[in-house]
This record gives sequence, structure tokens and C-alpha cells, in this order.
Amino acid sequence: MGKPTGFLEYQRETDPERDPLERINDWEEFHLHLSDEKLRTQGARCMDCGIPFCHTGILLNGMASGCPINNLIPEWNDLVYRGRWREALDRLHKTNNFPEFTGRVCPAPCEGACTLGLIDPPVTIKNIERAIVDRGFAEGWIVPRPPAVRTGKKVAVVGSGPSGLACAAQLNSVGHSVTVFERADRIGGLLMYGIPNMKLDKRIVQRRVDLLAAEGVKFVTNCEIGKDIPADRLREEFDAIVLCTGATKPRDLPIEGRNLKGIHFAMEFLAANTRHLLNNRNGGTHNGHGEEFISAFGKDVIVIGGGDTGTDCVGTALRHKCRSLHQFEILPKPPMARTPDNPWPEWPRVFRVDYGQEEAKARFGRDPRTYLISTKRFVGDEHGHVKELHTVQIEWEKDANGRFVMKEVPGSEQVWPAQLVLLAMGFLGPEDAAIEQLGLARDARSNIQAEHGKYHTSVEGVFAAGDCRRGQSLVVWAINEGRGAARECDRWLMGETTLP
Ligand SMILES: Cc1cc2nc3c(=O)[nH]c(=O)nc-3n(C[C@H](O)[C@H](O)[C@H](O)COP(=O)(O)OP(=O)(O)OC[C@H]3O[C@@H](n4cnc5c(N)ncnc54)[C@H](O)[C@@H]3O)c2cc1C
Ligand code: SF4
Repeated sequence: MGKPTGFLEYQRETDPERDPLERINDWEEFHLHLSDEKLRTQGARCMDCGIPFCHTGILLNGMASGCPINNLIPEWNDLVYRGRWREALDRLHKTNNFPEFTGRVCPAPCEGACTLGLIDPPVTIKNIERAIVDRGFAEGWIVPRPPAVRTGKKVAVVGSGPSGLACAAQLNSVGHSVTVFERADRIGGLLMYGIPNMKLDKRIVQRRVDLLAAEGVKFVTNCEIGKDIPADRLREEFDAIVLCTGATKPRDLPIEGRNLKGIHFAMEFLAANTRHLLNNRNGGTHNGHGEEFISAFGKDVIVIGGGDTGTDCVGTALRHKCRSLHQFEILPKPPMARTPDNPWPEWPRVFRVDYGQEEAKARFGRDPRTYLISTKRFVGDEHGHVKELHTVQIEWEKDANGRFVMKEVPGSEQVWPAQLVLLAMGFLGPEDAAIEQLGLARDARSNIQAEHGKYHTSVEGVFAAGDCRRGQSLVVWAINEGRGAARECDRWLMGETTLP
């Protein structure tokens, strides 16, 4: 530990962010960096407590506690405090293939488990992580490192999200020839077409993809396994297969009026927006008016769903210059501080204001979220386009078996004008074609059946990792699973493995 009294002397200070009213006029990232000096004092707040729950990465009460990829947090905090940035980068890359992604988008379960958090605000772990890797790129320390020898084994990775990329990086590093198949026109999965540019700039995703390509990973885009190439053909051409296809089936809201125009799944809205932005980046404009994407310009917008995806819809609709904006959440507003049944080091289930809500508040003067609300039906105009939503307030009550059940509050019906409705209510599981063609067993939630830590499916030589195995989750879990699946695949191919 560099400074034994650091946590007593310095207050927590997080990265500054661009002014919400300024940043909603463009698509550039909203986070800025603290100065080096300030980052060092933030690193000095880590007291190297000796019980670093921050890097345990276990599930407590169903949520991650600590870093799921076991980042060596106290070590790099200390190295940053001492100004030894390059060593900090090496420590970081030992456990995390893509700190530039997690340092931007991770909800930081590490910070929820930080021991300092028991008595004071936790160490700013995520900000330090991003600073280390951004500096590594700026200094030119991160360069392609192709493997010295090739094993002659060929592995197909299906899907190029964070689990597929982490898996490909690890398998390639021990000399296997890896081909990543991706049905989209760009590599990156939800890093590319889910999470919007202002949260994770697509140049940052592409930079890592280019590095992997320079290290020898082969990428094939616009190629859907199960459609463009039958899944069983992969079995003939490759020694092993790792499915990293994500949990892409969206949850629908099959109520009256669902088929009206102007009601879309969040991912249709977000993906088309990013595609348009990228296709027009060099010289084009992107001001919310457009044909090739779903525009929120001048519309009353309602986002149904209060999670990350909903927040990204909020941020995107604001940048399109919508007329009004509401976000509906069926659950109650979380408490402002931990409740007794949610103690440290569990993930704190507390009220948060994410970037989209902060921007909406700056633009419209109020947090866009309404809690405990359920949509009963959509009503359309004479052209078959949605014009309003009918809602009711709800309460959650326990039934005789102790299960929470939803009850409508009488007389709480409300009508909301809306010309654009975005459904962001989560995802149900992976899509079927490739799984069925390979004859893989599924678990009770329709995910691919494979034990966490083993990743081997019911079919010999076929592995599964990421959201298609665990259900819609987090980038950091996808990296954890991609790395683990690579380790087990390597062991299966070679009889032993040196991968972590
Ligand atoms: C809008 C949104 C915002 C999010 N924001 C955050 C966030 O801020 N922080 C966070 O930690 N997590 C976030 N998440 C969750 C996170 O993005 C996912 O948990 C993570 O990307 C899962 O990684 P994955 O590699 O398993 O799958 P994905 O990223 O979903 O990638 C799967 C890829 O497989 C491809 N594919 C599917 N089937 C086939 C096939 N048959 N052939 C070829 N390719 C195929 C898909 O096109 C896709 O590119 C967000 C999710 C969404 C939807
Ligand atoms: S990856 Fe996430 S949980 Fe792990 S150290 Fe970084 S911010 Fe924390």
C-alpha cells in the first residue's frame, strides 16, 4: 500500500462529465478524465485492506459482488499511486482483455464490495481502470502480440460480442487458429450495436478488433451460422466450436394495439441509430432527421423499461431532439441507501441516476422515470400509428405463498400521448437456429445448458459462453465467460491448458 493514510486524507472524486445540455447535441463520449495527480490520490485511497472483496467476483443474493474477472485492483491502485502506469497496465491485462470497455460501461460491482465502502464512499476503481488503459493506448504500449507458434487446431467462435472476442483473444494467444463468425455487418455484438456511442465510442471497439485481427484472429461478418452456413458444417471444418451468440430475443408486450406503427423494440431503435451514425461519420450529418433509422425527432417518446437498455433509449431519443420523454418502470423506486437485507459487500440495490436520466432532467426539468406503472393498451390514430398509451398504477403485494403479485390501483388510469414507444423490458434468451441445428440441450430458461466454469455443452467439442449461456447480463460477465470457455476449449483440444 503506497499511502497508509490515503483513505483518511482524500475524498472520493469521480471522473468529470460533459455538461448534459451540451452533450445531448452530439454523439461523443460524455466522460472526461481526472488529472494524473488526482488519479494518483484516488489510487492512494485504496487501503489494501487485506480482504479485497473488490476482486472476488462471487454471486451474493443473485448479484455480482466484487469484480467478476477478478481484476487485481489493490495492486494496480498502488501502482497508479506510485506513477508506475505501465506496470499497472500489465497487471490489468492479466485478468481483463478489454479494460477500455469495462472502464466505460461496467456498473462496477467491485466498488459495491470495496471495504472502504463500509465507512466512506468506495475507491473510484472503474475510473482508475479506464485511465490505465487509455494511457496505455495513448503511450503506444498496447501493440499486437501474435502467438509465437501455431498449434494447427482450428476453432470457430460464433458471435462477436465481448464473450466471443475474449474467447477468441485467449484461444489465439495459445496458438489456435480462430475464426469469429458474426451475422451483423460490424464486429462487437452489443458493444457495437447495443451500447450507444456516447457511452462507448465505436472507434474504441474497432481499435481492439483491429488489434485482434493483427494478432491473427480471422473475422467473418454478415454471416449467420444456422442460416448462411449450417451449424453442422462448422463441426466438419473446425476442431471445436464456441457459441457466444448472446441472448437476443426481446421480451414483448403483447397487449391491445401492439401492432400499431411507432412501437419498436429498443434494439431496433438503438442498432439502426448506431449503424446510421457510423455510416455517416465521415462527412454525413446525424441530427435526428432521417430515413434509415427510427427517429424520435419532435415526438413524444415513451420508453417502457427502467434498465440499462431503457437508459440508452432515453439518451438516444434526447439526441434526436424528442419533444417529451417518459420512462416507465414496473418496480418501485429503489431506496436511497442500502436496506438491512442488502448489506455490504452485496451489490447495493439503491436508487441511481444514470447518464440518460441526468440528461433528461437537464432538458425537461424532471427525472423521466415513473415507477409502479403498467401499460394496459396502445391506442392508434386513423393511419394505424400509435398516438397514446393507457396506463394504470400498480402495487406489489405478497400472496399466501409469500410471492409478490401485482395489483392495480383503482382509479389510477392515465393517458399519455406518444408517437414513439420503445420496449426495453429485457431479453428472453438466445435465438434457436444454431442451437437446434447443433442439437444442444437447454436449461429451464431456454439458455444453452453448460455449467459455469466448464462451458461444455451437451455436444462434444461444442462450448457456450456469455449471455447465450447465462442469460442477458453484463459485459464483465461476458468477458469472464469468454475467457473461461477458451480455457476449457484449450484443455479439451490439447489435454491440458496454461490459460487462466
Ligand atoms: C442496449 C444495451 C445496453 C447495455 N449496456 C450495458 C452496460 O452499460 N454495461 C454492461 O456491462 N452491460 C450492458 N449490457 C449488457 C451487455 O451488453 C451484454 O451482457 C453483453 O454484450 C453480452 O455479451 P455476449 O458476447 O454474450 O453477447 P452479445 O454482445 O449479445 O453478442 C452476441 C453476438 O452474436 C451474434 N450472433 C447471434 N447469433 C448468431 C449467429 N447464429 N451467427 C453469427 N452471429 C450471431 C449477434 O449478432 C451478436 O453480435 C447492455 C445490453 C443492451 C441490450
Ligand atoms: S471490470 Fe467492472 S467490476 Fe471489474 S474492476 Fe472494472 S469496473 Fe470493477
